[in-house]
Amino acid sequence: MIIVLRPGTSEPDIQQVAEAVKKFRYEPRLIRGVERTVIACIGDERMHHTLESLIVLPQVESVTPVQKKYKLVSREYQAQDSVFDVAGRKIGGGTFHVIAGPCSVENAAQTLQTAKAVKSYGATLFRGGAFKPRTSPYDFQGLGQEGLELLRQAHVATGLPIVTEVLSPQDVDLVAEYADILQIGARNSQNVPLLAAVAASGKVILLKRGISGLVDEWLLAAEYVCVHGNNKVILCERGIRTFEHACRNTLDLSAVAVAKKETHLPVFVDPSHAAGRFDMVTPLARAAVAVGADGLLVEVHPDPATALSDGGQQLKPKQFGQLMSEIRPLVEAMGKQLGMA
Ligand code: PEP
Ligand code: MN
Repeated sequence: MIIVLRPGTSEPDIQQVAEAVKKFRYEPRLIRGVERTVIACIGDERMHHTLESLIVLPQVESVTPVQKKYKLVSREYQAQDSVFDVAGRKIGGGTFHVIAGPCSVENAAQTLQTAKAVKSYGATLFRGGAFKPRTSPYDFQGLGQEGLELLRQAHVATGLPIVTEVLSPQDVDLVAEYADILQIGARNSQNVPLLAAVAASGKVILLKRGISGLVDEWLLAAEYVCVHGNNKVILCERGIRTFEHACRNTLDLSAVAVAKKETHLPVFVDPSHAAGRFDMVTPLARAAVAVGADGLLVEVHPDPATALSDGGQQLKPKQFGQLMSEIRPLVEAMGKQLGMA
């Protein structure tokens, strides 16, 4: 931490701050300029009490952290990309996987038809929501356990591993019986008890970025999972809320580039929730590959017009096939290997 004192601060007031710094178990190093004094505080900012509260002292002008708050997810901690195995598929470290399937699991025919179709076009994991975090309590909330059973049928029929969301700590054990990857949705991305509970499941976690989440907050959410003993986290950028409403959200490609630089975790992109409209999903998917994403999460429905959730953004199977053929050369150009089913 760097503490800048106001110009003309008296010696006793400087010493008062230095003493306060010591109480927080940092070592204060005074840098005396002509007009003002700066105190460099030596210590591990993650482990010690925060010095930020010293801003309330009248002689303190600013308190600035110099260290990142996350550690286990950082490239400083682990330089090489993390690679996780999900039912024989290697995620991260030069591979590119596409997770596809409907927003919500609605019935057996819709689920099985979609799973078979996305597999035939090259998706390597199947997604579908059984527990849905809907904005309105009057909207379809998902089939719950019945939906999980349908996902299992889709897995049996296609061999694709299952990605599905878990909404509450009480449901983690149940959902983990059916899922290969547990999804934490944007609305829950800073739900600390839920992050701890999914970590304990030992499953791979797909962690969406919060709707208005900062990159730091997203990485710290991943850090929570790691601190609870599970370092198998896939980050997923899904668009953030901005002033722009041409699309449902704004896909933050910068965040993908930053996350790839800052962390060793795989970073996926969900162009479906970013776009909110089917005709923008493929262009955003292409951009995601080019910026360096390690995979995509794409919503696909056999008949989006009848979908019980997110109909406007779901691709028909053929449109998904088109997306796959458009990204294939880009994935290759990025030097990545498109995942095998
Ligand atoms: C979803 O994947 O269907 C979903 C609800 O996503 P998000 O949490 O990103 O809104
Ligand atoms: Mn959705």
